[in-house]
Amino acid sequence: MSVHSDDVERVPPEDVHRPRPDDPAEPYEMIVVGSVNADLVVRVDRRPRPGETVIGSDLVIYPGGKGANQAVAAARLGARVALLGRVGSDGNGDFLRKALDGDGVDLSRLTETPGPTGVALITVGADGDNSIIVSPGVNALLSEDDIAAAADLLASARVVSLQLESPLATVAAAARTAARVVFNLSPPAVVPDDLLAACDPLVVNEHEAALLLGEHGTPRQQATALLALGPRSVVLTLGADGAVVAEPGGVTTVPSPAVDVVDTTGAGDAFTGALAWRLARGDDLAGATAFAVRVGAASVRNPGAQNSYPHLEDLETL
Ligand code: ATP
Repeated sequence: MSVHSDDVERVPPEDVHRPRPDDPAEPYEMIVVGSVNADLVVRVDRRPRPGETVIGSDLVIYPGGKGANQAVAAARLGARVALLGRVGSDGNGDFLRKALDGDGVDLSRLTETPGPTGVALITVGADGDNSIIVSPGVNALLSEDDIAAAADLLASARVVSLQLESPLATVAAAARTAARVVFNLSPPAVVPDDLLAACDPLVVNEHEAALLLGEHGTPRQQATALLALGPRSVVLTLGADGAVVAEPGGVTTVPSPAVDVVDTTGAGDAFTGALAWRLARGDDLAGATAFAVRVGAASVRNPGAQNSYPHLEDLETL
C-alpha cells in the first residue's frame, strides 16, 4: 500500500490554533534545529525475527521527527519557538507543515526541499515500547550554510535545542552559534569534544549513556561519568523512573509521576522540548527537569509522538 493512499490514516495533532505568542521585536525563546519526519506506525504483538513475517495493525501516520517533536512539545506549553529544518516536496511534507503550523510552531526557517520528507518506520509492541528505523530524506540536507544564514537568529535565542537526526557537522555548527545549547545526543554517535563542551545540558537516556560510557553503573554514577566527558551539565532520563541531573555542584534525582503507559514514542523529545523551554524561561536545571518529567509522563498516556504531547492544563491531571 502506498503511504500516500487515501486508505492510510494520517493523524494530525488536535487542531488547537491558539494565538501565537509572537512579538517580532522579541528574540525567540527557543529555536529547535532538527528533523521533521512522518512516523509510520504499526502495532505488533511481537516483532519479527530476521527472515520472519508477522501481521500487525493498520498503518497510521503521525507527525514526528525529533526536531519537530521538541518544537511541538514546547509550543503546546506556550513557547515562542521556531523550527529550523527541511521537509520534502511530497504529501508527507505538506502534512507535517500543516501539523506544525496548527500547533503554533514558527515555520519561517522550515525549508521545502526537492526530495523525500524524512520517514520513521515504527513498531509499537504490546507493552507500549517502540523500535524505530529512520529514513532521513531531506533532513540529511540540512547544512552548515543553513546555520550560517540563521546565525543572528540562533545567537539571539535564549536556548537552541539540538538532536542528531540531522548531519553532525550541521549540529556542531549550530552549537557554536548558540548562546545556550540543549543537546539530546540521540541517535547515539561519537561527537566532537567542542560540541560536548557546549552542552548545558547534554540529555541522554540510559541506553545512550551506556553506549557513550561503555560501562554500566547506577544512574547517578552514569550521570556523573557523563559529566566528566566535558558537558556543562547532564540530564539522564530513566523512563518510568524519571531523570537524574548532574552538575558541577552535585547530582539530583528527579522521580516521574506514575502513569498508565500506552505508547512511549517521542517521550524523550517531549521531555527535552519541555526542558529547553523551562530553561529559556529561567528555571534552574533541577527545576526544569522536574517540570519536564511531568511532560514526558503525560506523553506516554496516549499514542503517537506529537499527538500525545500535553498542553499546560493537561499536566494538572498528573
Ligand atoms: P523515547 O525513545 O521513547 O522517546 P527516551 O528513551 O528517549 O524515550 P525515556 O527515558 O524513556 O526517554 O523517557 C523520557 C521521559 O519521559 C522520562 O524521563 C519520564 O519523565 C517520561 N517517561 C517515559 N516513560 C515513562 C513511563 N513509563 N512512566 C512515566 N514517565 C515516563
